[in-house]
Amino acid sequence: MLRFYNTLSGKKEDFVPMDGKTVRMYSCGPTVYNYAHIGNLRTYVFMDLIRRTLRFEGYKLKGVMNITDVGHLMADSDDGEDKMAVAAREQQLSPWEIAEKYAKVFFEDLKKLNIGTPEIIAKATEHIPEMIAYVKALEDAGFSYETSDGIYFDIARFPRYGCLSGANLDDQLAGARVEVNSEKRHPADFALWKKADPRHIMQWDSPWGRGYPGWHIECSAMSRKYLGECFDIHSGGVDHIPIHHENEIAQNEAITGKQSVRFWMHGEFMLVDGGKMSKSLGNTYTIADLEQKGYAPLDFRFFCLNTHYRKKLNFTFEGLSAAKTSRTRLMSQLGEHRLSSASIDSGKLENFRQAFRSAVEDDMNVPLALGVLFTAIKEPKSKDIYELAKEFDCIFGLDLDKAEAEQAKTGEIDVPEQITALCEERKAAKKAKNYALADELRAKIAAMGYSVIDTPQGYKVTKSE
Ligand code: AMP
Ligand code: ZN
Repeated sequence: MLRFYNTLSGKKEDFVPMDGKTVRMYSCGPTVYNYAHIGNLRTYVFMDLIRRTLRFEGYKLKGVMNITDVGHLMADSDDGEDKMAVAAREQQLSPWEIAEKYAKVFFEDLKKLNIGTPEIIAKATEHIPEMIAYVKALEDAGFSYETSDGIYFDIARFPRYGCLSGANLDDQLAGARVEVNSEKRHPADFALWKKADPRHIMQWDSPWGRGYPGWHIECSAMSRKYLGECFDIHSGGVDHIPIHHENEIAQNEAITGKQSVRFWMHGEFMLVDGGKMSKSLGNTYTIADLEQKGYAPLDFRFFCLNTHYRKKLNFTFEGLSAAKTSRTRLMSQLGEHRLSSASIDSGKLENFRQAFRSAVEDDMNVPLALGVLFTAIKEPKSKDIYELAKEFDCIFGLDLDKAEAEQAKTGEIDVPEQITALCEERKAAKKAKNYALADELRAKIAAMGYSVIDTPQGYKVTKSE
């Protein structure tokens, strides 16, 4: 029986979709004003694990992910500038160009990490009428008030505010910063719609004049549109629990009075060198940064899979190197199993399958499921183990079926990261038909004492005589 930890109840609960067949799930997507960093990507690996687990259980999926291309202010509260507008000004591009640029790289990153794209991708700017209608409905039902700079949700009208994080409004009041917006009735009231001054680039007509939507209304309007008033799962990072998701609940449930999301699931944060990631510390790495340092995107995916999604994960390059070594070894051992024609006792295989299933079904204990795989590969070489690993890969998403190619790539020798990075660069150059660059890179690799040869399974590196 599949069990998921539900933030709302603070417990693991049995999971079955409402209609018994198709899981309706909403995942908070990226604000596309910058490249996704590895912390963001951990959260999407988590989303992917939920989706893979549900498929493994035989369910169909209707997943929605938003692309925030307007309305996410610099702070989660309602002051500061729109992140999209700031990036647009800094890069001298339009906000639409900024969104297109970063959304494109985001989807490329997902692909590199074997993260499946949800069935419906919803851009905020393409759902402005739905958001306006939603705000209007809240206003008509008396859940909002107008100030000089926008329309605000009146949390005093929603007594269950705080049900997800367990926050108490008085505590929030006491802890609140000195209030910038003195027109708000409560510091935790949040903007549903902001009035735009004429210089603001992104703005639309509305019953309240020209303006733009608040960030939280986007998720409520789009989840309602595609998934209805009540759906199965909502996922996101833990940072969204206290504000963004509380606000979504308030917006979703104020009028209907019904529970909107059955399971709230949150992925823990990724730290870097034990601390927060921040631009000023220069530690907000992207997938491209890791690739440049000679790591494959799947090394990062494997690194993530080794820690349960509800535990903090500390990123270090030592940790990533260890993951890379371990994954390379796994691939080469599986390659050996693949070549063997021996078979293995079917009872043993069944035990592995059962241990794997119970790990996955226990709130996605992927580290434990990986442990089952690592035990299995210690068995005498047999193609059955390779086939079993391929079955398990429906959850791991590590391209385990390519074990052989990976083995040919690394061969028997220990290839230094720098050489692998150059080989990857050469592979990309060849793909782009830039043969001059590919030859130049081959010469560079040779000058460092290695040769690279191309085989049908990919390239192979050997040490020069
Ligand atoms: P944003 O684009 O800022 O809305 O973030 C996209 C997703 O990444 C959200 O679900 C966040 O919760 C998540 N996120 C942001 N920082 C981290 C981090 N350091 N570790 C894990 N997830 C994060
Ligand atoms: Zn959201």
